[in-house]
Amino acid sequence: MIAFEEFSRRVAAVRAQIDAAARAAGRDPACVQLQPVTKNHPADAAIFAARLGLASIGENRVQEAAEKRLQCPHPIRWELIGHLQSNKAKLAVETFDRIQSVDSIKLAGLLNRAAESLGKVLPVLLQINAGQDPAKFGAEPADAPALLEAALATPHLRVEGLMTIAPLSEDPAVAVRTFQNLRAIRDDLSGRFGTPLPELSMGMSGDFAAAIAAGSTLVRIGTALYGAREV
Ligand SMILES: *Cc1c(COP(=O)(O)O)cnc(C)c1O
Repeated sequence: MIAFEEFSRRVAAVRAQIDAAARAAGRDPACVQLQPVTKNHPADAAIFAARLGLASIGENRVQEAAEKRLQCPHPIRWELIGHLQSNKAKLAVETFDRIQSVDSIKLAGLLNRAAESLGKVLPVLLQINAGQDPAKFGAEPADAPALLEAALATPHLRVEGLMTIAPLSEDPAVAVRTFQNLRAIRDDLSGRFGTPLPELSMGMSGDFAAAIAAGSTLVRIGTALYGAREV
């Protein structure tokens, strides 16, 4: 793990790049949140982010996050950004402040029931496979309206927006198209259902500038902040 001072420098550098990308797109930099991704790093990664006053962190495994959260008493929001299996729905609702990876009607139903049993309303994002990548999770764009309709009908989920992951590609145009597609899907759904869906979670270390140009409100950054993950 890197030292706190190094982390702090990297956050400042990435933040400056985010701000520049936002300004270049004619957007207010304050409307793009930097979410450190702490998966595969020790609990210190989350503690560092909390010490810097960052709003939230992203984790992609339920069990790993549940264990780390116990070691990080500082106030910061924990968000699930990885695929969620049905049998982990209950623990996920107990562990996370928001789940970004809701990709099926079945999963929305399970999370709704778990949130109800815990007496809470769970903020969620719907994960859409906006890059039509066979290797990625996420609802197909054609299934997005039915998923949104189902999620909006669940009293214990609050749908705040959409999330996507761009396909791995040598060609930067692939990520650009993916992000523009998610933005278009959001605009379409938002109009059709009369609901704002303000959060657009898209962009990672290698492609966040393109995501911000397309309207990202939250970039999920791991490698550029913590270095390579030890797997
Ligand atoms: C790991 C991960 C990230 C961060 O990726 P980096 O390239 O390390 O910045 C972002 N989003 C999701 C869903 C991830 O699993």
